Amino acid sequence: MAQLTPFRLRPWFRTRIWGVRDLAPWYSYTVGEEPIGEVWLSGDDCTVDSGPHVGTALAQIFAEHRTELLGADASHAERFPLLMKVLFPQEKLSVQVHPDDALARLHGEPHGKTECWYALDAAPGATVALGFLPGVTEAQVRTAIEQQTLESLLHWLPVAKGDMIFVDAGTVHAIGPGLVLLETQQNSDMTYRMYDYGRPRELHLEESFRALRLQTQAGKVVPRALADSTLLVESQYFRVDRFALQPNAAPRAFAQEAKHPAAQLLFAASGSGELQAEGCDPIALHRGEMVLVPACTAAWQMRATGSTSTPLEILRAVPR
Ligand SMILES: [Zn+2]
Repeated sequence: MAQLTPFRLRPWFRTRIWGVRDLAPWYSYTVGEEPIGEVWLSGDDCTVDSGPHVGTALAQIFAEHRTELLGADASHAERFPLLMKVLFPQEKLSVQVHPDDALARLHGEPHGKTECWYALDAAPGATVALGFLPGVTEAQVRTAIEQQTLESLLHWLPVAKGDMIFVDAGTVHAIGPGLVLLETQQNSDMTYRMYDYGRPRELHLEESFRALRLQTQAGKVVPRALADSTLLVESQYFRVDRFALQPNAAPRAFAQEAKHPAAQLLFAASGSGELQAEGCDPIALHRGEMVLVPACTAAWQMRATGSTSTPLEILRAVPR
C-alpha cells in the first residue's frame, strides 16, 4: 500500500443553540433550521477531502496508519490526539470545567481536556472567563451557584483578535459572544457544566467540583517571535504557531524535525494557498480549511495562491 501523504479534511458543521446563522466570511455554508456553533476541523468523524483516501473518516486513517500519521514514538494509542474547531458563540456559553488525564481515566476515558483558544476575530468588548477572582473559595463558589451570581466571582478578561488563551484542565471557563475562536484541544469530549446563568440546561455540579482547581496555569500567552513563525502556545499536549506566506512569493519549504516527526495540522486563517509534497497531487487550501501533514511526510512546500494582497495565514498545531 502506498505511504500516507498529506490530505485536506472536510469541515464538519455542528448545530448548537448558542451558535450563529451566518458563517461569513469564514464559510459559505447554508445554515438550516438550527444555528451552527462549532465547525470541527480534525474530529474523528471528519472525512478526508483530497487524495486517495477521499471520504475516509480521520478515525479510520488513525486506526490504519497510526505510525505514519503520528510518528514512531507517538504515545497516543486510542484516538487522534488533537481536535481543532472553530467556535462561533452568539451568546454566553455555559461555565464549564474539564477533567485532567488522571480524572478522565477514572471515568474510563483515555484523555482529559486541556485546550487553547486563538481569537480569529473579536468584537469590541468581547470577553472570556478564566478561573476565579483571587481568594475565592470553593464554599463561595457553591453559594454563588445556588444564588445564581457565579458570574461575579469569575475572572473575565478582554480578548482582542490575535490573542492566544491557554486553558488547562481544571480551569473553570466560559466564552462570551462576539468572538470567533480557533480551539485546539485534547481529543476528549469530557465537559462538566457548572453554571448556566439560570438557563434550564442540566448542570454537573459534583463532577465539576471534582475536576475544579482554584489555581491553574490558564491565561493569555505572550507570543514569541521565532525565525519563521510566531509561537503562540506550547504545552504538554500541543504547540501552536502562526506564519504567513505572501502571494507571488516563492514557495516556502518545510521539513519535519528529524528527531521528532509529528502530525502537522495546518489551518488557513486567511487567504488561500497550495501544499505540495512528494507522492501526492498539489492540495488547495482555502480560508477555514485544514490540511493534515502526516509525520511520515518528511518535507513539503507551501505557497499562497491568488493575485490579491491577502497573505495566506496559517495556524499550525502539532501534538506532543
Ligand atoms: Zn472548554
